[in-house]
Amino acid sequence: MDIPKIFGSNVFNDKTMKERLPKETYKALKNTIDNGIALKPETADIIANAMKDWAIAKGATHYTHWFQPLTGSTAEKHDSFITPTQDGEIKMEFSGKQLFQGEPDASSFPSGGLRTTFEARGYTAWDCTSPAFLKEDAAGNVTLCIPTAFYSYTGHALDTKTPLLRSMEALSKQSLRVLKILGNNTSVKVISNVGPEQEYFLVDKKYYSQRLDLITSGRTLFGAPAPKGQEMDDHYFGAIKDRVSDFMKDLDVELWKMGITSKTKHNEVAPAQYEMAPVYTTANIGTDHNQLVMETMQKVALRHDLVCLLHEKPYAGVNGSGKHNNWSLCTNDGINLLDPGKTPHENAQFLIFLSAVVKAVDDNAEILRASIANSGNDHRLGANEAPPAIVSIFLGEELTDILMKLSKGKKAKSREQVYLRIGVDTLPDLPKDNTDRNRTSPFAFTGNKFEFRMVGSSSSISIPNTVLNTIVAEALDEIAGRLEKAGDINVEVSNIVAETAINHKRIIFNGDNYSNKLIKEAEKRKLPNIKSTVEALATWIKPDVIKMFAKHEVLSKEELHSRYEVFLENYSMQINIEALTSIDMVKTLYIPAAIKFSNELAEILSRVKFITCSASVQKKLLTKINSQLESISEKLDDLETETKKAQKIEDVPNQAAVYRDRVFEAMDRLRQDVDVLETIVPRELWPVPTYADLMFKL
Ligand code: ADP
Ligand code: MG
Repeated sequence: MDIPKIFGSNVFNDKTMKERLPKETYKALKNTIDNGIALKPETADIIANAMKDWAIAKGATHYTHWFQPLTGSTAEKHDSFITPTQDGEIKMEFSGKQLFQGEPDASSFPSGGLRTTFEARGYTAWDCTSPAFLKEDAAGNVTLCIPTAFYSYTGHALDTKTPLLRSMEALSKQSLRVLKILGNNTSVKVISNVGPEQEYFLVDKKYYSQRLDLITSGRTLFGAPAPKGQEMDDHYFGAIKDRVSDFMKDLDVELWKMGITSKTKHNEVAPAQYEMAPVYTTANIGTDHNQLVMETMQKVALRHDLVCLLHEKPYAGVNGSGKHNNWSLCTNDGINLLDPGKTPHENAQFLIFLSAVVKAVDDNAEILRASIANSGNDHRLGANEAPPAIVSIFLGEELTDILMKLSKGKKAKSREQVYLRIGVDTLPDLPKDNTDRNRTSPFAFTGNKFEFRMVGSSSSISIPNTVLNTIVAEALDEIAGRLEKAGDINVEVSNIVAETAINHKRIIFNGDNYSNKLIKEAEKRKLPNIKSTVEALATWIKPDVIKMFAKHEVLSKEELHSRYEVFLENYSMQINIEALTSIDMVKTLYIPAAIKFSNELAEILSRVKFITCSASVQKKLLTKINSQLESISEKLDDLETETKKAQKIEDVPNQAAVYRDRVFEAMDRLRQDVDVLETIVPRELWPVPTYADLMFKL
């Protein structure tokens, strides 16, 4: 396999642009990509035409504006390149106008009140910072995908991409202010980079298709534990089975073609759980790529008669899946601002940016928590395999020690202003590689980046990164303001770092985040512990959050309100689907199976007087089955009643709260009874594949 040749072969990337565009056009496009300079319509026509010729040469028949609505997934509407001519023939055409803007019928996408259905106009606009690419499907269709932003007639963002791009700009702007004061006159842009590690499960399609719960909800709503779980630690990093390896190989090729740098693959902790990590890239491209990774995993799995489960918690009792969002800041000329560096002035820069992140996360823990809230993640956070819903930062012993020393007033002396020399006298060399690892922290410093581990496996990473970028921009804004006014920058840098250490000490927790100690410690430190999605989402519309997002022009008040509504509605819809699926499975599968078994037993017992034995075991079993059935029937009624009540509630937040407090709880009680039933009914009568089938028969 010629990987360098395959890699990026389906991307209209820099190399292809250089090859296919006239020099002047290429330069103009580069100027747009790098500096946001508007393109002339003629230039756009030339680019569109070149894109079309390239796509057609690779077998494309259609193009689509590919966008990321608030559903969290991606959307596409395909148009062929054909244009009828006057003589009844067709031409293959694609204009600059078609490249620039599309108008999908937006009425069926969630907007949270930003766009009433009768004014369904929504527009997609080309995001040239993310390259166009080709998607191939198993049927041989090839489609040219143009990454776009999606917004309403009134200019409000209806997607997750637009705010991400805005947040990257805000972060760049504030970072540059700080860099300038620190003496950097060369960097013109600061970029947030992300490397999302994607966890997932695989399951045999023949078992999957017999589980309505997996089909409708992505997770098992029932299932008694298998005799074996993950207790032997034999799956993590274990040898990859051939069938899975075949899938991974295909996946890699598909991803490489689309220019996605799939790099690392391994078995994860739970049985049939795996991970893929790409090499990091800019937050916007990383987000596009992660969406494609999720989609491609699902597609390629089917080719192998497997199904890829991206849900945060497909199975109770074993690890769930997350998405470790590795995040860092880098200048256009290659300086990683979270790299501790070697020389004093680099230390100053590092300590300032580190302080900004620490301050940002402590001041905004609630909105960071809200950014990863969904019903799936509620099952995962705080279970024994994932960080709890408490946001804290791991810095490691050495860095924490440095900050604490600084906070005790050991200020750096001001010297001549050639270089900032913070720390020359008081700081030990900063650790270059922070090798001590803490796998339990929700937000860990890992050498030259932060790893935000609370993100759920099924979510788009655009929202958490939008929030991360914005809160750090806010902290840097305040820091820049102080530095710009300071008489002696050296002293002020030192003050800022020391004050951050004092004021935000509480957010630093280097211990085990999975232990109960953290929960007690968090209470003592007054760190928020927001357990459910419904509570967390309320943060989106808190006045100070609205103020911050508006100030940095990332999301307006209306846009925040719309997201709040859409996310709550998603939550309610998800629980509603789960409830209806539970009801259906219990009524049509589990109760009939139990009745069948109970009939068999009753039948034997009815003949007892003709046979010599007492049939005491059968009697005992029949009693047990029947009492279990009665209990299930009661709980089923409860769930039906609660679901019907919840469905009628019109107030969105109130409805979500009822789904959480009443419906979800009723569903859980029903599940417990059914799981007990599973341990009594004979395997041959059990109507669905068991946990052992799902997790171990791959
Ligand atoms: P681990 O599982 O040991 O944490 P992985 O190799 O699975 O590590 O994933 C680490 C991820 O972090 C990769 O996607 C990698 O590209 C990314 N990464 C490395 N350096 C940076 C950086 N400076 N900024 C953002 N992401 C980074
Ligand atoms: Mg990893």
